[in-house]
Amino acid sequence: MAAKIFKNLIAGEWVESRSGQTFENLNPANTKDVVGVFPRSQQEDVDAAVEAAKKAFQRWRLTPAPRRAEILYRCGQLLQERKEDYARDMTREMGKVLKETRGDVQEAIDTAFYMAGEGRRLDGHTVPSELPNKFAMAVRVPLGVVGMITPWNFPMAIPSWKIFPAIVSGNTCVIKPAEDTPLSTVNLVRALIDAGLPPGVVNIVHGHGPEAGAPMLEHPDVRAISFTGSSEVGRIVGQAAARHFKPCSLEMGGKNAIIVLNDANVDLAIDGTVWAAFGTTGQRCTAASRVVVEQGVYNQFADKLVARAKALKVGPGIDEQNDMGPQINQQQIETTGKYVGIGKSEGAKLLSGGSRISSAGLSDGFFWEPTIFGDCHSKMRIAQEEIFGPVVSLIPTDSLEQAVDISNGVAYGLSSAVYTRDVNKAFRAMRDIYAGITYINAPTIGAEVHLPFGGTKATGNGHREGGIGAIDFYTQWKAIYVDYSDRLQRAQIDTGE
Ligand code: ADP
Repeated sequence: MAAKIFKNLIAGEWVESRSGQTFENLNPANTKDVVGVFPRSQQEDVDAAVEAAKKAFQRWRLTPAPRRAEILYRCGQLLQERKEDYARDMTREMGKVLKETRGDVQEAIDTAFYMAGEGRRLDGHTVPSELPNKFAMAVRVPLGVVGMITPWNFPMAIPSWKIFPAIVSGNTCVIKPAEDTPLSTVNLVRALIDAGLPPGVVNIVHGHGPEAGAPMLEHPDVRAISFTGSSEVGRIVGQAAARHFKPCSLEMGGKNAIIVLNDANVDLAIDGTVWAAFGTTGQRCTAASRVVVEQGVYNQFADKLVARAKALKVGPGIDEQNDMGPQINQQQIETTGKYVGIGKSEGAKLLSGGSRISSAGLSDGFFWEPTIFGDCHSKMRIAQEEIFGPVVSLIPTDSLEQAVDISNGVAYGLSSAVYTRDVNKAFRAMRDIYAGITYINAPTIGAEVHLPFGGTKATGNGHREGGIGAIDFYTQWKAIYVDYSDRLQRAQIDTGE
C-alpha cells in the first residue's frame, strides 16, 4: 500500500512544499512501516505561512476572546471523540504504549478546556491613578504571529500547550512539528479546524529544524518564539531570538532525581521509579534518570527495582500486553548505547539490561532493555548528562542534605521527587531543591496542565508552560490611562504640594 501523503497547512489550505521535496515518517517499532510522507519545507514555505498568519491576525485579534474560546471548547469535545484514533496514530509514529498516547491526547483535551476558560478571564488590573479624574488600567494584548518549534516525545500535548494559550489570547501562529512525529500535530489542528478555527490562525510547516524551523527565528514578522527540545538546539534558538529582541520561551532538558529516604515506603518508591524511569522508554524531559537512595534501604531498593525492570515487557506500543515501546530513532538508540558504554567504563555496576533487543519481531524497531546501573557516583557522566533512554543510575547517599546536593548538582533543574514519611524532611526538600517541579511521594513525571511547567538552569530561560504562565508568555502588558479632567495633568509634576 502506498504511503499516505500529508501537506503543510497555510492560510487554511493543505499545500505541498514549494520545492516539492518530502521526507518519510517511520514507525519506530517497525521501520518498514511508513506512517506517511510529509513536505520538507524551506524558507519560502515559512515565509508563506508567516504571511498567512499575519493576515489572519488582523481579524483574529478583534474576535472577542470568549468567541475564540468557544472554538477551543468544541476542539476539546472533538478530541474526546477522536481520542482512541489519535492515540493509535501517535503510538504508530512515536512508539510509546497506547495507555501513554491516550494520556498524551488527554493532556491536549485538558489544555483545551482549561485555556477555553481563560477566554472569559484573561484578566488584567485596574489601579488608582495618582491624579484626580484619571483612570488607569493594565490590559493583556496579543503579540502577533508566534513561531513554535516542538519535539517528538509529546507529539500532541506539547503543541497543545503552545497553540491553545496562544490563540485564546488572540495570537496567530506557525508551528514546525518534530520531523519524527508530524502526524499528531496534523491531527490536533484538524480538530481545531473542524471546531471552526478560521483559516490562517494556525499554520503548519513540516520539515527539518535548520531548514523549516530556523527561518522563523529570523523572520521579522514573527514576534515571539516558543521552543521545546534539547538544550543544544535551545541555545541556537535563544541566541537567534535575542539578536532580534524576540520574546522566547525555551523548555529543554532534564536530569531528574528521585530521592528515597530510609523512612520511605519503599514499595511505593519502586512503583514510582519504574514508571518515571521506563515510562515513555525514558524519553521524557521529566524522566527519572537518577535515584538517590539512603544507605539503609539501598540494597533492598536495588534488588526490588531490578526484579521489576526484568519483568517489564518490551515490544510494540500498539500491543496492550507491552509495558515499554521502542526508542524514537536510530540516533537516540545510539546515544543510549554510547552512555551504557560510558557507564561501564566509569565503573558503575550494570545491574540489569544494557543491550539492544533484536529478538524475533523486534529487529526492525529501536528497542532497548530497561537498564539499571548501581553504585554510581553523582559525578559520573551517566549521572550528569541527559540520556533520554531507558537507563537509570542508582546513587547511594548518607543523608537528606547530601541527597539534595546531589539532586541539585547537575546542569539542569526540571523535576525532582522525594519519598519520605517525615513531614519535616519533606518540607526541607521542597524548600531546598532548585528545580521547577518537586513531587513528594510521587515520581518525577505527572504534570497537570493547570500548574506551571518548566525548570531552572539549562532546563529553561525563566518562562513556564501550563497554568497562567502560558498566558503570561503569549500576552504583553499594555498600560492605559484615561484622563477625564479636561485639563493637562502631569504625573510626578502636579503633586498637589
Ligand atoms: P529532540 O531530540 O528532543 O526532538 P531537538 O532539539 O533535536 O530535540 O529538536 C526539537 C525541535 O527543534 C525539532 O522540531 C527540530 O526539528 C527543531 N530543530 C532542530 N534544529 C533546529 C535549528 N537549528 N533551528 C530551529 N529548530 C531546530
